[in-house]
Amino acid sequence: MTSREFNRVDGPNRELLDRYRSEYPVRIGELAKKMGVQIKVSSLNMGVSGQIKNETDGYVIRVNRHEARERQRFTIAHELAHFLLHRDIIDSSPDGIKDNVLYRSGAPERIEYEANRLAADILMPMEQVQKALSEDFNGMVTEATIEGLAARFQVSKAAIEIRLSTFASV
Ligand SMILES: [Zn+2]
Repeated sequence: MTSREFNRVDGPNRELLDRYRSEYPVRIGELAKKMGVQIKVSSLNMGVSGQIKNETDGYVIRVNRHEARERQRFTIAHELAHFLLHRDIIDSSPDGIKDNVLYRSGAPERIEYEANRLAADILMPMEQVQKALSEDFNGMVTEATIEGLAARFQVSKAAIEIRLSTFASV
């Protein structure tokens, strides 16, 4: 029950994803580091949430220091998804991929959808969300459920709401 994008990740990175997705909240910073990607919490321009580029000493994700921690976690997962899926696009520009607050970067929309789907799969594995929902919240989606799940996975309430809304389409 993972996305197409998840299934496109292969080799050692796939193994790392499997390993890190088994504990909550997912240690996203450590996961990125294991994949050889540095994370820098930076003063990005207003309206920019994150960026990934290929620098002389490897790939670097920058995340906006002024955004909430849960938001930063999703941004890191989104940029890491670009690293796993779209390295050719990152490498084709000296600025790499730079995402605004809507996770739009100027790349085709499909690219951003792919990154968002993989990011959601990394931080909020569907099996785990469903398991928590049925075991700990009686399968009832209420405000308290959304808050509880957001705290458990350390993502924003908006991210969990989007995740829950995709159940119908799985
Ligand atoms: Zn993006």
